[in-house]
Amino acid sequence: MRKKRIVIVGAGLSGLSVAWHLARKGKEALILEKEHEPGGLCRSKQKGGFVFDYCGHVLHFKKEYTLRLVKGLLGNNLRRIRRSAWVYHSGRYIPYPFQAHLDWLPPRIRRECIEGFMRRSSCKKRTAGERCNFYDWIHATFGKGTARHFMLPYNAKFWKVPLAQLTCDWIDGLIPDSFPKQSRVEKNATGYGYNHHFWYPKQGGIGSLPAAFAGSLNSVVTNAEVVEINTKEKTVRASNGIKEKFDSLILTLPLPLIKNIITPLPQPIKHLCGRLRFNSIFNLNVGIDKKDSLGRHWAYYPQPDISFFRVGFFNNFSPSAAPNGASALYTETAYRHGSLPLLSRMSGLIHEDLQKTGVLSGAGKVIAQDVNAIEFGYPVYDFNYRPVTKMLFTQLLKHGIIPCGRYGAWRYASMEDVILEGRDIAGRL
Ligand SMILES: Cc1cc2nc3c(=O)[nH]c(=O)nc-3n(C[C@H](O)[C@H](O)[C@H](O)COP(=O)(O)OP(=O)(O)OC[C@H]3O[C@@H](n4cnc5c(N)ncnc54)[C@H](O)[C@@H]3O)c2cc1C
Repeated sequence: MRKKRIVIVGAGLSGLSVAWHLARKGKEALILEKEHEPGGLCRSKQKGGFVFDYCGHVLHFKKEYTLRLVKGLLGNNLRRIRRSAWVYHSGRYIPYPFQAHLDWLPPRIRRECIEGFMRRSSCKKRTAGERCNFYDWIHATFGKGTARHFMLPYNAKFWKVPLAQLTCDWIDGLIPDSFPKQSRVEKNATGYGYNHHFWYPKQGGIGSLPAAFAGSLNSVVTNAEVVEINTKEKTVRASNGIKEKFDSLILTLPLPLIKNIITPLPQPIKHLCGRLRFNSIFNLNVGIDKKDSLGRHWAYYPQPDISFFRVGFFNNFSPSAAPNGASALYTETAYRHGSLPLLSRMSGLIHEDLQKTGVLSGAGKVIAQDVNAIEFGYPVYDFNYRPVTKMLFTQLLKHGIIPCGRYGAWRYASMEDVILEGRDIAGRL
């Protein structure tokens, strides 16, 4: 019997996971990757003695399976770390999550948050059922004070769309959603949320993980951008001249782009792609010739007049990310697709804000810099999201094309999520 021909578009973590799990079953797949190396958003870059990722990429495991798999791939090159996360508020840093540390806030704001929480039940009925929107969910969950002082400004800055246009069905554990019991407030608990511990490679940045996946595969072709998927011939064509027939095609490139490469293009696909919304992320990584003495991992910035929404320190994930006596930090700024200000202006603004918020003190000198504009950052879960993705996936599956990964399957997915998705897809092939 002829072997099933499987082609994977994209060698990010999702595509690599499909190929890796297929290989374990003795099946082969060809991976076509447009960049010069595999890894997608989980690559790392070495610059002037620093190791920079694309923003912060830390590992969380909900499933024992994934932890075992990653330990198997990275061996001794993995460490478990207790989170040190902060929120910049009222000119100081308070521990994250905001609502668990109200006693760090000025008394007036603290009172507003507590009173708002006590009265929040009046919003509850609005958050039941399918039409629940994120703006109402925030009020119903945290009350007016926490909404006003943290949740609303932070999320408006992050999502770049009015929050009442978002649904609530993506939240599922991503936002620590309750006020802690009083006893925990008093202890200033930092153990809230899904990510109170995380894992990170000791050496080589997060890029060590896709490198370990790819290292055991011999079918990854780089510098091969897929420029055409012909659904009649069932072929894919790449920029380097490769043309391959497929029975199953695993698609991990961003869903909105398929309208440019699928031929013949069914009319509904073009129309539906235009309705997918997303934010974009500007990532400036900075190497400084001064040690960060606080040992923080990252901090959140809800203020509309501060350019970034989050800043973190790679060297506090792993000391090998910066030379001795130096620090490696990342900043993340969300922007609406197509509206990125001039890079030079953006970097200038970020440097000013790093000083203003006390992340950089005057004494530290910038000795390395790395810029990434991540066009497809976070898929926006608006009220079109479910029907539009459902119709798109139905069209694709009809032609043997299986959407996969954070951008192919268009969902707010973590590294663990896409590794598991890759395993499940491989299991069905
Ligand atoms: C700012 C940010 C921070 C994040 N932080 C975390 C975190 O801390 N922890 C966590 O678990 N997750 C995090 N994530 C999510 C994580 O990055 C993703 O879940 C994961 O990297 C998705 O992998 P993927 O393979 O689905 O997509 P990608 O990594 O995007 O891989 C897709 C691949 O397809 C390739 N490609 C695109 N077009 C073509 C083409 N035409 N032909 C061939 N190849 C093509 C790309 O080059 C890429 O290699 C973060 C995401 C973002 C945006």
